[in-house]
Amino acid sequence: MTTVKVVVLVGGVGGARFLLGVKAALGLPPVGEAPGEAEITAVVNTGDDIWLHGMRVCPDLDTCMYTLGGGIDTERGWGRTGETWTVSEELARYGADPAWFGLGDRDLATHLVRSRMLRAGYPLSAVTAALCDRWRPGVRLLPATDDRCETHVVVDDDEGRRAMHFQEWWVRHRAALPAQAFVPVGADDASAADGVLDAISGADAVLLAPSNPVVSIGSILAVPGIRPALRDTTARVVGLSPIIGGRAVRGMAEACLAAIGVHSEAGAVGRHYGARSADGILDGWLVHTGEAATVPGAEVRAVPLLMSDVDATAAMVRSALELAGAAV
Ligand code: GDP
Ligand code: CA
Repeated sequence: MTTVKVVVLVGGVGGARFLLGVKAALGLPPVGEAPGEAEITAVVNTGDDIWLHGMRVCPDLDTCMYTLGGGIDTERGWGRTGETWTVSEELARYGADPAWFGLGDRDLATHLVRSRMLRAGYPLSAVTAALCDRWRPGVRLLPATDDRCETHVVVDDDEGRRAMHFQEWWVRHRAALPAQAFVPVGADDASAADGVLDAISGADAVLLAPSNPVVSIGSILAVPGIRPALRDTTARVVGLSPIIGGRAVRGMAEACLAAIGVHSEAGAVGRHYGARSADGILDGWLVHTGEAATVPGAEVRAVPLLMSDVDATAAMVRSALELAGAAV
C-alpha cells in the first residue's frame, strides 16, 4: 500500500484537536508516534508568535506539539500539564511587562531552548524539529514561515488609531477593542518555511482545519507562496467550518470576521476562502449538519462538525478526505 500524504493547515487549540482526529482517521494513535501508512504534515500558523522577556514564544506550534505529544493541559487546552507559575509571579514583582501573557515554568523551558537555537542561527523549522525530538507528535509540524511575519491589529478607540501585536489584542483585551484590520507585519519579505510548498504540491489531500479563518488560516495564507501552492496542487483542498449556527464553536473568531467584513456564518467563511475555480483555494467545504451554504465552484456537504471527542473528530476528517477524493 502506498503512503497517504495529508497536509493540514492549522492554528492552535482548534487545529491541534483536529490533528488528533486526522491521526485517528488515518489509523495512527492520536497522541504520540507510531509507524503507519500515513504521512501527515501540519502547516502551523506563526502569526501569533511574539518575543516576550527576550524569548521567542510560538503559541500555535507549542499547542500542537504539546497536544500531539501528550504534554498539553487538557482542561485549559494550551500550556503544559502540571504547570506552575513561579517565574511569572517573580516577573510580576519586578513589574516586568507584559504581565498579561501566561508563561508557565515548564513552558518556559521550551521557549528557552527555542530562543537559544534561534540566536545560534537555526531557522524556526529546524528548531521545531529539534523540540519535536522530545515530544514525538507523530505529525510533521512545519511553521508556515521561518521569517518574522506577525499579525498586528489596527484598533480605533478613545486613544485613537493604533496597531498592536495580535497577542495584546487577543489575550490582554480579549478581542474587545473593535479591530479595523489585521496586518501581517513582515509578509513582504517572508517566504514559506522549508518543506511547506513541497508538502502541499506532493499531497494527496489538503485540509483546512476548522481554525480561526482570519488569524490562524488567514495568517498562514498571508505568507507569500502558500496561496499559489494551494491553487496549483493536484490534491483537492477541503476546508471545515469553525462557525456553527452563526457562532464560533469556541473562542472569539466572530470579532475577527467582523473586522474583515465577513459574516459569522459557515457559507460566508467558505465564500471568503473561495473556490479554486474562482480565484480561491477550496474544492470542498464542510458545514455542520442541518446547515446549508453555497460556495460557487466548490462542493459543499453538511456533516457533524463538533470535535466533542477524538472519534467524532476522526469522523469529520473521514468526511473531509472523502470529499477530497482521498478516502481511507
Ligand atoms: P487558536 O489558535 O488556539 O485560537 O485555535 P484555532 O485557530 O486553531 O481554532 C480556533 C477555532 O476553532 C475557533 O474559531 C472555533 O470556532 C473552532 N472550533 C473549536 N472547536 C470546534 C469544534 O468542535 N468544531 C468546529 N467546527 N470548530 C471548532
Ligand atoms: Ca492561535
